[in-house]
Amino acid sequence: MFSYWEKKHFFHYDLIVVGSGFVGLSSAIHFKEKFPKASVLVLERGVFPTGASTKNAGFACIGSLTEILDDFWHMTHAEVLALVERRYKGLKSIRKQFGEKNLGYAHTNGYELLDEEMLRALEQLPGVNKLLRPLFKEDVFSQVKNPEKMGFANQIKAVVKNKFEGELDPGLYMTSLWRLAQSVGIRILTGVTVCEVSQDEGIVLGEDGAGEGEVNLEFKAKKIAICTNAFTEKLWQDSAIQPGRGLILLSKPLDFKIPWKGTFHMDKGYVYFRQIDGRLLLGGARNVDFEGEKSMEFKVNPKIKSHLETLAKEVIFPNKPIVWDTEWTGIMAFGKIKSPLIRQVGVKTVVAVRLGGMGVAIGWQVGKELSILLSKM
Ligand SMILES: Cc1cc2nc3c(=O)[nH]c(=O)nc-3n(C[C@H](O)[C@H](O)[C@H](O)COP(=O)(O)OP(=O)(O)OC[C@H]3O[C@@H](n4cnc5c(N)ncnc54)[C@H](O)[C@@H]3O)c2cc1C
Repeated sequence: MFSYWEKKHFFHYDLIVVGSGFVGLSSAIHFKEKFPKASVLVLERGVFPTGASTKNAGFACIGSLTEILDDFWHMTHAEVLALVERRYKGLKSIRKQFGEKNLGYAHTNGYELLDEEMLRALEQLPGVNKLLRPLFKEDVFSQVKNPEKMGFANQIKAVVKNKFEGELDPGLYMTSLWRLAQSVGIRILTGVTVCEVSQDEGIVLGEDGAGEGEVNLEFKAKKIAICTNAFTEKLWQDSAIQPGRGLILLSKPLDFKIPWKGTFHMDKGYVYFRQIDGRLLLGGARNVDFEGEKSMEFKVNPKIKSHLETLAKEVIFPNKPIVWDTEWTGIMAFGKIKSPLIRQVGVKTVVAVRLGGMGVAIGWQVGKELSILLSKM
């Protein structure tokens, strides 16, 4: 039951964005910047964004050596280059837009650990640098001298540095997006689960968190943007999106000095770790149980947890005491190809989804691209 005032002021908009992750908020902000007088509403089911944007590891990364080599198996050279460029430019643009301090950004460099099996990648290092040179004007990857100083287990035979990577705080990035969205007059309503979008009619049906589990909200908009990433199938059945869960473990503050800093990758980028506030943040390893992780449930896979704990104990900090403090999962979205899906899907509706493990770097730019698409409709 809604009041006259609620019906008059709260249900009609120029643009409704579903999902308030990096992509949803970026899309709303870019659209509002293009059309300052437009009324823009963002609908979010959680109190906080409840997908990946505030659950991730905060790696501001463009791709490790073995990740890029792996991409060559599935993509053309031009596609791989375009993806690296998108990530690189995306990172540059958020640093410029929000300021490094507001993102908690630190340019600490990226590193990749290579074991015996992965060592062959070093042969390809000069070739990959050559390929990336037109974009970066200098070598991206180099082999670290004296990697033993980093204190990893003997099975780590080499460490490769990427000088174009850094790290940020996803909570601060989200705070910056909230602040900007608010300052340009975007309305964000949380606790609203969208159940249906009429893509041609511009109708969004939702369930109010304070309601009784029934569809009781009917919003109307001239344009709709679906930015629900892994959770898109419910609203757009043809999305062909594969959810991919990611686990992160965080240790208690370590009582020894960490002999390295930066963002670290292993196993073609599937495993990653960094230090934060004197703690070890370690995550990934989806490749240990691909099938099990095709899930939209925020649960912990014991097989993956145990794999990560073993890596911490045996490879990252051999013979050092680690006490785990907390753990969480987030859900990513994947598809057959490793690039975002930005498309018009109805007379009044567009989508921008399938961000994979790259949303920190490309979310803002994807929002910009979606706003351009919206402005052409
Ligand atoms: C564990 C983990 C680690 C990661 N590490 C990194 C990293 O280091 N670097 C990097 O670049 N990327 C990383 N990523 C990926 C990155 O976080 C994502 O690519 C990015 O956050 C995707 O943003 P998004 O806005 O598309 O999706 P999301 O952040 O998932 O946002 C979608 C939003 O839509 C909302 N929603 C869904 N359905 C509905 C509905 N029906 N009604 C209303 N709201 C709805 C959700 O609640 C959610 O808030 C990681 C992801 C995970 C899970």
